[in-house]
Amino acid sequence: MKSVALLGATGSIGLQTIDVLRREPEAFELVAVSGGEQLSELAAIAREFRVARIGVISDQHREVLRDLVARDVEIVVGDDGLTSLSRDADIIVNAVLGFAGLPVTLSALSAGKRLALANKESLIAAAPLVDAVRSTPGATLLPIDSEHCAIHQCLASSSAQAGYPDVRRLLLTASGGPFRGWSHDQLRRATKEDALNHPTWSMGAKITIDSSTLMNKGLEVLEASALFGVGVDRVDVVVHPQSIVHSMVEYVDGSVLAQLSRPDMRLPIAYCLGLPERLDHAWGELDFTRALELTFEPPDLDAFPALTLAYEAARLGGAAPAWLSAANEVAVAAFLADRIAWHEIVGVVARVMDGYLPDPLRTLEDLVENDALARHRAHGIVGL
Ligand code: NAD
Ligand code: MG
Repeated sequence: MKSVALLGATGSIGLQTIDVLRREPEAFELVAVSGGEQLSELAAIAREFRVARIGVISDQHREVLRDLVARDVEIVVGDDGLTSLSRDADIIVNAVLGFAGLPVTLSALSAGKRLALANKESLIAAAPLVDAVRSTPGATLLPIDSEHCAIHQCLASSSAQAGYPDVRRLLLTASGGPFRGWSHDQLRRATKEDALNHPTWSMGAKITIDSSTLMNKGLEVLEASALFGVGVDRVDVVVHPQSIVHSMVEYVDGSVLAQLSRPDMRLPIAYCLGLPERLDHAWGELDFTRALELTFEPPDLDAFPALTLAYEAARLGGAAPAWLSAANEVAVAAFLADRIAWHEIVGVVARVMDGYLPDPLRTLEDLVENDALARHRAHGIVGL
């Protein structure tokens, strides 16, 4: 039996992880959870799984939660709390949203744990710092993000030397989001409802908006480069509207390996929990007795400039990816709060990136400073 700490338990990935754990009571014990604002949901999870420890973001939240869970449950607060929880178990699932997930990533790896990582923002912003703690004995970083989980599976055919010299390129698939094929005029009139209506995946609001701008795919290019140690010039994006092929690896001999399933995040979650074994439950099973159409096309870089911005940030290196991700978090929050229009989101990020001050990003303090500066610039632009 392996113990699991689930940080960000009340979100989209968190609840799907709960679903997987519910079906595997013999294999996993949930020992710790954390959450943001959804305290009654968090308490319900804690009671169902009889967890020993819970992390919350403020003393006020701790007081509310105190009356909702058993007396002997320990409630910890803030970043220090999250950090302590991420040392609690054999497997840490980081399903926290945004930059706030960084302490979980760093502390789980530093403690030599298996980190099942959904929180891509922390890896993208802090790649050099994450790299430094990945070599801690016992530390394993497994990606929950479906594309990267697919690549992880397809790389099983590689000799796995550093930098994967037998791999020509990684091919990240993108659904294209709800606005695939829309004209510039149509995009200028896109509403929040349109943007939140993803054609193939059901996800949290921030990543759903990121998928509509293709910023999610841009962030995933950076994520793939950081995870697999492959330069972004060897990471390409292919639009695949059916979201059945979750990504591909092209080898130097021309072979392309792909991982397929119906879109269901419980599959990559279960993969990351079960490795080296596969859990015996088919999430997203495909039915080949019916016709299945799979199509592929290049992304429209003109309509979706976020992708180009992400490649530029990767080439700049240092703190540029952290600026990109921070500016994007602010722009998406402003869009969700009806402060800016959909077509302005990526423009805000581009303006912040225009003012990027090169920084090699050596320490956590550097990163926190850069994150704050990029957010400050973005807030100035959106007027929040
Ligand atoms: P979500 O908004 O549904 O859930 C986020 C979770 O984090 C919630 O439990 C929330 O309470 C908690 N949280 C939010 N802000 C916090 C803060 N400041 N401090 C502590 N906890 C906080 O998000 P999600 O869609 O589940 O995504 C979580 C992460 O997984 C993101 O980084 C996202 O990019 C990544 N991801 C999500 C999906 C998906 O299908 N939803 C797929 C791939 C990757
Ligand atoms: Mg993804």
